[in-house]
Amino acid sequence: MAGSGEFERIERGEIRRQGIAVSAGIAIGRAYLVGRDSVKTPRHHIEAEEIEDEIARLKRAITASDRQLEKVKQKLASENESDFHILSAHQMMLHDEHLVDAAINYMRDESINAEWALRKAVDAIRAVFDAIEDEYFRERASDVEFVFERILRNLLGKDTGPLSPPPDAIVIAYDLSPADTSQLHRAAIAGLCTDAGGKTSHTAIIARAHELPAVVGLEDITEVVESDDLLIVDGTTGVVIVNPKRETVVEFREEQRRQAAAGAVLLSNRDLPAQTRDGVEVKLYANIDGPDELESALEHGAVGVGLTRTEYLFMTSETVPTEEVHFAQAVQVLKLMGGRPVTIRTFDLGADKLAGFLEETQLGEANPALGLRSIRLCLNELGRPLFRAQLRGLLRASAHGTLRIMFPMISGIGELRAAKAVVEDVKEELRREGVAFDEGIKIGIMIEMPSAAVTADLLARETDFFSIGTNDLIQYTMAVDRVNEAVSYLYEPLHPALLRLIAGVAKAARDAGISVTVCGEMAGDALVAPVLVGLGIHELSMSAVSIPEVKSSLRAITLSDVERLVRRVVDLPTAGEVKQAVEAYLDELGVQRA
Ligand code: PEP
Ligand code: MG
Repeated sequence: MAGSGEFERIERGEIRRQGIAVSAGIAIGRAYLVGRDSVKTPRHHIEAEEIEDEIARLKRAITASDRQLEKVKQKLASENESDFHILSAHQMMLHDEHLVDAAINYMRDESINAEWALRKAVDAIRAVFDAIEDEYFRERASDVEFVFERILRNLLGKDTGPLSPPPDAIVIAYDLSPADTSQLHRAAIAGLCTDAGGKTSHTAIIARAHELPAVVGLEDITEVVESDDLLIVDGTTGVVIVNPKRETVVEFREEQRRQAAAGAVLLSNRDLPAQTRDGVEVKLYANIDGPDELESALEHGAVGVGLTRTEYLFMTSETVPTEEVHFAQAVQVLKLMGGRPVTIRTFDLGADKLAGFLEETQLGEANPALGLRSIRLCLNELGRPLFRAQLRGLLRASAHGTLRIMFPMISGIGELRAAKAVVEDVKEELRREGVAFDEGIKIGIMIEMPSAAVTADLLARETDFFSIGTNDLIQYTMAVDRVNEAVSYLYEPLHPALLRLIAGVAKAARDAGISVTVCGEMAGDALVAPVLVGLGIHELSMSAVSIPEVKSSLRAITLSDVERLVRRVVDLPTAGEVKQAVEAYLDELGVQRA
């Protein structure tokens, strides 16, 4: 009966879930579940000389699938034993000779592509299962299909093209790769929700950059929601409502209108200076992933770009970016910023930011966040040619505007010197070739590990500027995975340990006469920004959408007051008490916060 689905929906009633609010705003729309649709298997013949490459591609996809299953499995380990075992079985299937060897044989014998060969191997296994009388075993065929689907998705990778939700949909997924999220805003979706993730996961950062209301860390939202369910996502409070009642929709529409009006008022401060009441200027920059975010950066009042993440050049393309690609993107950013300063970070790949060329190397790592990533990768054999290509492109671009280059994840002086030596070498090469670049270009580093923070005085002598990456600094100081919702309660920007580290870095920069910015997500929090200013940080870089609110918060304070406040709060024992003290101070001033 046509109405039975509707009836079921009414029966299910309004369901509320609380997750981690990562990107403010209210979205109301229909659910679009990602990851449950099936993917078409491309079938074509290949040339004899392509066979080995094709086999290597299949093996990479299998290793990637293995790693993904391992991750899901570890999440389930403590709560659902039977799912844990099913996933272990799926992992075993990934390496089963009937699947892998059979697929490779098909590729060799019939000169066909990996996807087609895999499909044939799966069909052969299915035929065996289908012939079994026992229903339990017959049903295991669906497990083989599940494994097939996963390898297929990995094989197709970015080739599957962007996710294609309808406009105004709310995307629901277990997790999204940063590459997926970065494509989603183009689909004009209304919002997104994920089971996994934390406040500074890249999914969250991208959602904020594109002003997509988002809630992550919902744990089981993919189970609760069905395709096409009506949803309300409150990206400010972290509440998600499935099948809301009519009154609830009315209530949230009202709130949506109120927020839009408040946002318009905030935006009207775009051309006002970001200045405290006692006249101290705080420079507010934008963090961007690419030139398409610059219009919004300027609209929100950014006075420059404090962080350009260049990983996306690697993650959204099948091939690694060439010197020309780096050059062209940097020049485009400089031109669009019309003379305002721009800081570009050399690529920070690894851990949750994987690129195709890395998968094989990275997959064997037990602790990718502590492994061969970021500047370490740039300085090793695999990454060095790509690093040099990027440096050549960026140095050439420096002739076209005010460009600064910075290195991510510097652990100490040794790595700083090694990275600078590559820059010097590339500069020398350009001079020999007579290619123009800015001889006075500033080369700086991110401070995102405790080892760098506590040796900031030493580092300050050999670098032109610091940019504190608090997303990682919190992760490594608190030993808390920034994307693991189970421990997100430990991810506290106002923890005394963090405040002390930041104060030390600010002092080292001041003593050495170099500039220091905070470019982690905490810089964009209107409650936290005054504390950073009080700690001696007068340059903040953030998602552009946060600039108006941070600016209005800073325009309400005085430097002398926040310095006094900070002297008091660094001696408080917990982040909770620090937060209370700061809230009380801002409330007294009447500072509105989301
Ligand atoms: C950081 O770690 O704070 C940072 C800005 O870098 P990313 O978020 O890209 O790791
Ligand atoms: Mg970082």
